[in-house]
Amino acid sequence: MRILVTGGAGFIGSHYVRTLLGPDSPAPGVELTVLDALTYAGRRANLPASGFTFVRGDVCDARLLDELAAGHDHLVHFAAESHVDRSIEDAAAFIRTNVLGTQTVLDAALRHGRRVVLVSTDEVYGSVAAGACAEDAPPRPSSPYSASKASAELLALAQHRTHGLDVTITRGTNTYGPHQYPEKIIPLFTARLLRGERVPLYGDGRQVRDWLHVDDHVRAVDLVRREGRSGAVYNVAGGVELSNRELTGRLLALLGAGWDRVAYVRDRPGHDLRYAVDDSRIRTELGFRPVIDFTDGLKETVEWYARHRDWWETGPEGA
Ligand code: NAD
Repeated sequence: MRILVTGGAGFIGSHYVRTLLGPDSPAPGVELTVLDALTYAGRRANLPASGFTFVRGDVCDARLLDELAAGHDHLVHFAAESHVDRSIEDAAAFIRTNVLGTQTVLDAALRHGRRVVLVSTDEVYGSVAAGACAEDAPPRPSSPYSASKASAELLALAQHRTHGLDVTITRGTNTYGPHQYPEKIIPLFTARLLRGERVPLYGDGRQVRDWLHVDDHVRAVDLVRREGRSGAVYNVAGGVELSNRELTGRLLALLGAGWDRVAYVRDRPGHDLRYAVDDSRIRTELGFRPVIDFTDGLKETVEWYARHRDWWETGPEGA
């Protein structure tokens, strides 16, 4: 089995590669190629030194994707611009990579009869006041980031219906763990607290997110790659709903800091109040359930950042 992993030098993609090449691999003996442009969010050093092929390149490069698709059985598509705040500042890179890049991946897969897993997000549902969204809920994205991911999904499903493209989609919830670039809340707050600085909490911190450990996320993605129904979408939830204020409290406690280290900043425009997905489909069809306990996972994540200051202090832009 030959798998092309786009965006494999980023947070979740690199964890996927390490998992597939590791001792408990769900796909032993797999041959892997990573395609990554190494933007600010991707680092070669996130990946093992050997055991796979690394190609530095752009997912929008149709000729490159065509060559790579020819030599691989499955394409697992993580590559994206992934930070909501950046998309609010400037949406152009998000539309290019997340929409055009996905179209390029889908077209190459179709030409060569390959299977694609599109790694998408629960943010496509928009804010969910009560209950939880099942996969057939309509997309109601609020940010250019989530709109670009919803667009990518619609293209994938259209290619499935029109041309029979073998594609599955995962919608994971907010993901945490080591190697996440320190712009998202957990690594950003951890890095700032470790440096003795204050942390910026948006608005009143009431926004609720469901937290999924990166290890559970990548195991779900690979299960969907192996056993997911073609044309189906699968929600992947961690099952731990926390407000940003509650999460901040946990990080402060883990790092021995008080609420005086919190600076309340103006809320993000269009900030979704709550995300929540119903993950019954992946549980009943594929037997998936997340196994990493949030308290343990968060503690280990904070400890990883404390032990790897060089990783986040010497990165391209730092925290
Ligand atoms: P990330 O920003 O850490 O990594 C993205 C990777 O894609 C980087 O290595 C970057 O160099 C690469 N990349 C960007 N543009 C590229 C291009 N044009 N060509 C090739 N490579 C390019 O993101 P992440 O958090 O690891 O997210 C991975 C995927 O999972 C994304 O599709 C994201 O939408 C999705 N997702 C993320 C979360 C989360 O909480 N982080 C939750 C659900 C879904």
